[in-house]
Amino acid sequence: MFVSVIVDIPSKSVNQVFDYRIPDGMDEIIRVGHRVLVPFGRRTIQGYVMNVKDAADFDPSRIKPIAGTLDIEPVLTEEMIVIAKYLAEYYIDQYISVIETILPAALKANYKKLVRLSESAGADARGAFTGLGLSDGSEIKSLNSEALSVLRPYLKSGEVVEETKISQHTKKKTALAVYSLKITEGHLGRAKKQVELLDRIESSSEPILMSDLKAEGYSNHLVNSLYKKGYIDKMNMEVERDPYSGRIFEYDAPKVLNHEQRTAYDEVSASMDAQSAGTYLLHGITGSGKTEVYLQVIQKALDDGRAAIMLVPEIALTPQMVNRFKRRFGDDVAVLHSGLSAGEKYDEWSKIKEGRARVSVGARSSVFAPFENVGAIIIDEEHEATYKQSDRPMYHAAEVAKFRSRYHGCPLILGSATPSLESYARSEKGVYKRLELTKRAGTEMLPDINIVDMSAEHREGNTSIISKPLYEDIKDRIDKGEQTVLLLNRRGYSNFQICQSCGHVPMCPNCDISLTYHKSNSSLLCHYCGYETGVHKECDSCQSEDVTFRGTGTEKVEEILRDMFATDVVRMDNDTTRRKGTHEKLLDHFENDEIPILLGTQMIAKGLDYPMVTLVGVLNADTMLNLPDFRANEKTFQLLTQVSGRAGRHELAGEVIFQTYNPEHYAIELATNNDYRRFYEKEMAFRKLARYSPFYFHVLFTVSSEDVRSCLESTTHIHAALAENMSEQSIIVGPSPSPIERINRQHRFQILLKYKREPALLGVLSELDREYHEKYKKEDISLKIDVNPLVIM
Ligand code: ADP
Ligand code: ZN
Ligand code: ZN
Repeated sequence: MFVSVIVDIPSKSVNQVFDYRIPDGMDEIIRVGHRVLVPFGRRTIQGYVMNVKDAADFDPSRIKPIAGTLDIEPVLTEEMIVIAKYLAEYYIDQYISVIETILPAALKANYKKLVRLSESAGADARGAFTGLGLSDGSEIKSLNSEALSVLRPYLKSGEVVEETKISQHTKKKTALAVYSLKITEGHLGRAKKQVELLDRIESSSEPILMSDLKAEGYSNHLVNSLYKKGYIDKMNMEVERDPYSGRIFEYDAPKVLNHEQRTAYDEVSASMDAQSAGTYLLHGITGSGKTEVYLQVIQKALDDGRAAIMLVPEIALTPQMVNRFKRRFGDDVAVLHSGLSAGEKYDEWSKIKEGRARVSVGARSSVFAPFENVGAIIIDEEHEATYKQSDRPMYHAAEVAKFRSRYHGCPLILGSATPSLESYARSEKGVYKRLELTKRAGTEMLPDINIVDMSAEHREGNTSIISKPLYEDIKDRIDKGEQTVLLLNRRGYSNFQICQSCGHVPMCPNCDISLTYHKSNSSLLCHYCGYETGVHKECDSCQSEDVTFRGTGTEKVEEILRDMFATDVVRMDNDTTRRKGTHEKLLDHFENDEIPILLGTQMIAKGLDYPMVTLVGVLNADTMLNLPDFRANEKTFQLLTQVSGRAGRHELAGEVIFQTYNPEHYAIELATNNDYRRFYEKEMAFRKLARYSPFYFHVLFTVSSEDVRSCLESTTHIHAALAENMSEQSIIVGPSPSPIERINRQHRFQILLKYKREPALLGVLSELDREYHEKYKKEDISLKIDVNPLVIM
C-alpha cells in the first residue's frame, strides 16, 4: 500500500504530494488524515496523509517507507482534506498552510535538532564531542557557533550525526488527587471531620481531585493530616483544561417565539428536514431575537442527532454570548477562541472530535470544528471583518461555511442587523433567502437617536469633546443611578504631537504614520509596528519649546470624564485589555459595581446587554468616515447602528447621541432612523458609480520591500501580466502607493483588480504567486494576493 503525503515545508516548490510506502504491519493503521513522519532529503519531517492507494505512480522500489505515525485516530477528516484543497486553490496558498490553520496549533510539528555520536565515531570525534560537554541528544539550538565549527569535520565524516526530532505541544494537564490506601485499623479516634473525609474518599471508586474536595468544604490541611497518618496517598491525575470550570450556568429555557421569529425558524427548520444546503440571511434589528432563533435552530439540529456550528466575531469580546449558549446547552458546548491557550484549544477541539460536545461556539477558525454530521451553521454579525483572516491563508469563514453546508446538506444562517452590502445584494437576487425580524423581541422600544452638530457647539463656545446635550444626559443618568456607554474609536491620550512654530509632527521612523501620545507611560507610540519613544519637550526639527498635543484618545477622555462628573469610569481599549481575562473583568466591574460610565473603542459596540444602560454616546461619529477605503460609509453605518443597540434593551427606555462634524452625511443620518434599506440603496448607487463591490469582484495585490524601486518594478510587472490576461471588462487600478505607504520600514504599493467574470483568473494568480515566491527567497520583496479583500489599506 502507498500513501500520498503533504509535507510540512511551507514553500511553493513543494506544494504537492509525495508518495511513500506503508511498511508491513502498518497497513491496518494508516488512513487518510493521519499525521505521519516521513524521510525528506536527509531529514525526517511531519506530513499529512491525503490519499491511500494500492499502486504508486512510479517505480515502487524507489519509494521510501514512512517512518511512523503520530496518531491512533486520523486528525483530519476526509471533509477537511477536501476543504484544504479547495481553500488553497481559491485563496492562492499552500495546502500545508491551510491544513495548519484547520488544525489546532497544538498539533503542529515542533522540530528539535539534536546531535549524537554515530557507531563509526573514532577517538578524535569522541574526544571533541565530550570535550564540548555534549552527551547524546544534545539540542543544536543550545550549541554556539564555536562548538559547531569544532563538530563540522565530524558531521561531514558522519561520525557525529544530526537528527531531527518532532515533539508535540500537547502535554496532558494533570492535577493532584488523593485515593484511599484502605487501611482498616487505625486511630482516627474522635477526629470527626477526618473520619468523615476518609469515608468520602473511600466511597469513591476513583481518585478524587484535591480541588473537588476543597470545593466540598474539606481543607487542604485536613486532607494532609490523613495523608501524614498514612490513610491516603496522592497522585497526579490527568484532567481536561476547562476554562469554564467552576462556573455554574443556570438553565435558560427556550422562549416562545414571536410571529416573525417563528416564520424564520420554520423556513430554516424545513430546510433542515429536507437536508438541503440553502443560505439564509437573517436580517433583524438589534434586540429582535436573532440569538433566540439561533438557539432553537441548534436545538433542532441536536434533536435530529446532528451537530451545530455557531460563529461569533470574537468571543473574548462577548462573554455574554457564551453564557447564553452554556445556559441552554450546558456541557454540550465547546468554546473556541483566541483567548484560550494552545492546550485549552486542543482540549475543546478534542471534545468535538470525540463527540463529547455537539455544539461549537467560536470565532473565525472554529468554522473548521471537526464534526462529522453538521445540522446547522450560523454566522452571527456576518458583516464583521474579523471573519476574514488578514494573514495567509486569507480565507473568509463564510466561504468555508458555504462549502460545509453543501457537504453536510444543512442550512447556513448569516445573521446581522446591518448585513454587508454583498450579502444583502445576494438576498435581493434570491441567491440567499432573506428572513426579516423588524421589531424588538420584548416590549422594549428602539432607542431615541439624536445628532449633535459639533461645529455648532464650537461656534457657541464649547470646545470640549463632550457636547452640552450629552453632558446634560450623562449627568441625568448619574443622578438616576443609570449607566452610560461612550464610544471613542481612538486609543491613547492624544492623537499626535505638533510643534506650533514649524508644524513638525513626530513620525514613526519605520512607518508612514504619526506617533500617538500615551500619557500613562509618557511615550509616543506607533500603533502599526509598536515603535516607542519618549516625549521630547523640544521640537526635533526647530528646537522650539512650543510643542503641544492635538486630538483626543480614550486615555484623555477618561481623565476628562472623571473631572467633569467626579465619578468612576471603566475604560476598555487595547491598552487596558491586553492581559488575558481583563476584558471580562472590566465588564463585570462595570455591571456589578454599578460604575456610571463605560468608555471604550469599538470593542464595546458588540453584544453587550445590560439593563441599566439607558444612554449611549458616540463621541466622534466621523472617525470611520475618514478612512481611505471604499467601505468607509458602510463601516460607519454598521458601527453606529450596532453601538446604538446597546441602549435600553430592557424595561428602561434608551437614548443615543451621535456627535459629528458631518450631521448631514447619509451614513450618519440614516443610522439615526435605523433605516438599513435606504442606506443600502444610497450606498449601492455610489458603489455602482464608482464600480466597486458588490458590482465587481476584487483582488488586491500589495507589494512590499525596503527598496522603493523594486516595489515599482514589481507592480509594473504585475500590471502588465494582468493587462495581458484579463478581458476588456476588467479594471486595473494602480500601481499606486498603498494608503499607508510604509509599515515596518517596508514601502508598500498596490494594484486593485476589479472584475466581473474572468475564467482564467485563478491560473494567472497562482502563476504570479509562484513567481514571487521564488523571487522573495532571493530579493527582499513580497507579494500579497488578497482575494475578495475586506480592507483596501
Ligand atoms: P438579537 O440577537 O437580535 O440582538 P436577542 O436574541 O438577544 O436579540 O433578544 C433580545 C432580548 O429579547 C433578549 O433579552 C432575549 O432574551 C429576548 N427575547 C428574544 N426572543 C424572545 C421571545 N420570543 N420572547 C420573549 N423574549 C425574547
Ligand atoms: Zn518645530
Ligand atoms: Zn511604526
